[in-house]
Amino acid sequence: MELKTKVSEAFASHFGGEGSLYASAGRINLIGEHTDYNGGFVFPGAIDKAIMADIRPNGTDKVNLYSIDLDESASFGLNEADAPSQQWARYVFGVCRETIKRGGSVKGFDAVFAGNVPLGAGLSSSAALESCFAFALNDLFNGNTIDKFELAKIGQSTEHNYCGVNCGIMDQFASVFGKKDCLIRLDCRSLEFEYFPFKLDGYRLVLVDSVVKHELVDSPYNKRRQSCENVARRLDIDTLRDADMEMLDAVKADISAEDYMRAKFVIEEKERVLDVCEALNRGDIETVGKLMYATHHGLSKDYEVSCEELDYLNDIAKECGVTGSRIMGGGFGGCTINLVADGIYDNFIATVTEKFNARYGHQPKIYDVVISDGARRVE
Ligand code: ADP
Ligand code: MG
Repeated sequence: MELKTKVSEAFASHFGGEGSLYASAGRINLIGEHTDYNGGFVFPGAIDKAIMADIRPNGTDKVNLYSIDLDESASFGLNEADAPSQQWARYVFGVCRETIKRGGSVKGFDAVFAGNVPLGAGLSSSAALESCFAFALNDLFNGNTIDKFELAKIGQSTEHNYCGVNCGIMDQFASVFGKKDCLIRLDCRSLEFEYFPFKLDGYRLVLVDSVVKHELVDSPYNKRRQSCENVARRLDIDTLRDADMEMLDAVKADISAEDYMRAKFVIEEKERVLDVCEALNRGDIETVGKLMYATHHGLSKDYEVSCEELDYLNDIAKECGVTGSRIMGGGFGGCTINLVADGIYDNFIATVTEKFNARYGHQPKIYDVVISDGARRVE
């Protein structure tokens, strides 16, 4: 059933009548991995997998929610002490609180919501949920006076303050600013951004989810960040955004081999994002794909955040003639993102499914995505 019908029908049966429909989307990131905390660039876009909510102010100071997908209800007040116990409801509570903290108005409302962004697959269903409600509260209670950057920050602060996830701004940014057939190059240092048309003719974007998540000891993410900070300090710069390979090579003897490799990846990845944007402007999809493979190689060999399963997915993609393929997200499991020519799509999906299953005993999940609009009112 279409999301819109599902949500409207559930609203009618739970609360009676109808509210206003809002939606926001999950996201992909074409290239630019581990660059955000180094002040570099990322290149995300919103996708055609969304969270949709039907919402109506109820004239009280209470929020009543129904999650269709979980078949659970939650109710809460709007004061800090009223936080609900259910995790999924805390996302909505957080968005209400963060809107209020910024001087925005939020009153009681009834809402039902559902989505088709796979949960925890690296497509940021949580950002879709936050930005859907942030956008809706802005429209319903604030006459759209809160700007889009603030809406993204409301989502990010929700993760920080109500969900215990210390994330950057990319996911919420992509969800809020996402535009059909456009990727967004975001400069994580200045927060300046630019849209790049990304209408794939003859290619598809496919995520292959390994469905593994390696439990890691000794927090490798913190160690990666530490390496980047060590090198930046040695170079006397704020972040590796300001470094190039010449500068790095000049201090090679003074830093550990590990720190060198980590910094090398970050410096090269920053350049690759810019190169992908140039290639896209020329319509040169083959080069975009080569740069994606280069990112995978760097993540695997220099940054060392890959794993056997992800490297295997990348190898299969290469063997099948997939144009570009790389790990998407932090690594150690999750998805690869693949740029696949129409002509080889069926063979690739069949091959990757069969081979991965033969080696690991379970099939990967396949998600086709199309770059679409982010947060919006649905008519
Ligand atoms: P992701 O990588 O998809 O963002 P997270 O763990 O950050 O994974 O967020 C997933 C959480 O967001 C879920 O556990 C749930 O609390 C909430 N969520 C996302 N989508 C839905 C949905 N359709 N219905 C209810 N809750 C949802
Ligand atoms: Mg999330």
